[in-house]
Amino acid sequence: MTFGSLKTLNRFYSATSYTKIPRVCIVGAGPAGFYAAMHLTKNIQCKIDLIEKLPVPFGLIRYGVAPDHPEVKNVINQFTKVAQRPEVNFYGNVTLGKDITLNQLRQHYDAVLLTYGAEKDKTLGIENENAKNVIGARHFVGWYNGLPSNKDLEIDLSCDMAAILGQGNVALDVARILLSPIDELRKTDITEHALNILAGSKIKQLYLIGRRGPLQVAFTIKELREQLKLRDCKTVWRPEDFQNVINELPNLPRPRKRITELMLKSLNENETCSISNNTKMFKPIFFRSPKKFLINDKNNVTGIELICNKLEGENWESQKCIPTDEIEVVNCGLVFRSIGYKSIKADEDVPFSNGLVLNERGCVIDEANELGKLYVAGWLGTGPVGVILHTMGNAFQVAKTICDDLKNKADYSKSGFAEFKDIVKDKTDIVDWEGWQKIDKFEIEEGKKRGKPREKICSVEKMIEIAKSEFKIVKDNS
Ligand code: FAD
Ligand code: NAP
Repeated sequence: MTFGSLKTLNRFYSATSYTKIPRVCIVGAGPAGFYAAMHLTKNIQCKIDLIEKLPVPFGLIRYGVAPDHPEVKNVINQFTKVAQRPEVNFYGNVTLGKDITLNQLRQHYDAVLLTYGAEKDKTLGIENENAKNVIGARHFVGWYNGLPSNKDLEIDLSCDMAAILGQGNVALDVARILLSPIDELRKTDITEHALNILAGSKIKQLYLIGRRGPLQVAFTIKELREQLKLRDCKTVWRPEDFQNVINELPNLPRPRKRITELMLKSLNENETCSISNNTKMFKPIFFRSPKKFLINDKNNVTGIELICNKLEGENWESQKCIPTDEIEVVNCGLVFRSIGYKSIKADEDVPFSNGLVLNERGCVIDEANELGKLYVAGWLGTGPVGVILHTMGNAFQVAKTICDDLKNKADYSKSGFAEFKDIVKDKTDIVDWEGWQKIDKFEIEEGKKRGKPREKICSVEKMIEIAKSEFKIVKDNS
């Protein structure tokens, strides 16, 4: 059936209040949730309720993707079209495990798809990790992107040396935001509170510390290139970290070879680059694992004690770091821990182990056969790795399984959100799509006043207030 004829059918079903179509609940309105909804709407006749903890949609597209990467956020346009389809409902400000239970959802839907992502960060479990100015990258990212729970992050940028632990793309996002000229950031949708603090930053040197070597960096070439091109910033590598790297080059697969060549090229340019008083230094360091954070009598971080590692194993990709007896100290007044995100068990009935919802190609392995079937997609099912494209592929594959299962189901008798909406309404102010559109419009207007694409509202209460306001938005069903 084509997209257009499905839409006509949907209108017919709404008009006749015919209920014998499958009801699907998707928990989490990030990329995985939206891509799954997109696949379902294109391939099967169903009603979809998208339940989201925040009053606003889009997950890490809004609260993770760096403000200076606006092109990445264009997927929001596709997601908006999905949300505006008549068979899709958005229920924002509704949290699984708080306002609704998994059991409730499984009683009222033919299929429940969990896509609630990874909302905590991994910790190192080392001494003084709770010192002041040791900050999870996730909190910093949430802070500059306007995540309400991170708005009041306490961060002191008055030191001249800082360090990031971990060498993934999140680490490079953090580095770029700290080292970019402030006038570049002013043009983005970075929050005003972050801009004000970043404008007063005194950071001149930023270490990027990895436990393994240059061949194992987790960041990608595009992001490294951007870092190397930053205005008034010089990248300083340690030549000793690159011993033997050149010998490995011919054996590397193409993407790894290209990024390694770029690092080597930049290393060789080190000597020729000029430095002024304004130049900031970006200093990657390899083969070092954090042992403990050093602190002063006010519990402020003053440095990191690092264990020097060697690598063991034949294959460059799976080589493991082995600690030696050598210790090195890096002095710094601010540390970001950027070693990955992790998921949580949002509801007591979510089958959860080792940071993931247990699943087989998206089907959740559990015993509750009499209830609606349970599925998982996105970072909650795959682990907190992969870019939007990977998340899309995974969500499409899981949604296809849901379609196949629903097509084989003989009877659809579930009634979806309508059945328990009143109970939820007593617990929370539900924000629907129209409510989000009001927030969206408000933010864009606020942004215009400052020459920015938008100024995000960082308070849930304020979002709800705007969503409830009288201002009318006409629903575009095209
Ligand atoms: P999420 O995007 O986290 O969505 C999960 C949603 O579930 C959220 O809206 C959350 O509020 C909601 N939720 C959580 N708990 C509950 C609950 N209990 N009840 C209801 N709802 C809940 N990829 C790129 O391709 N390009 C980039 O530039 C890029 N930048 C990134 C920057 C950062 C800092 C990070 C961390 C990732 C970045 N990625 C990027 C990767 C990309 O963001 C992920 O691939 C993608 O967001 C994963 O989608 P998801 O739907 O699984 O999770
Ligand atoms: P990541 O890519 O998994 O990188 C994590 C980094 O932390 C690695 O360098 C890892 O080293 C290190 N690490 C992990 N545990 C450690 C420990 N105990 N001690 C020291 N170091 C440790 O995670 P991420 O940076 O959070 O990114 C998550 C995903 O989002 C990635 O797929 C990323 O590409 C994507 N993303 C994309 C973009 C973009 O496209 N611009 C931006 C941000 C994020 P080891 O390799 O040794 O484990």
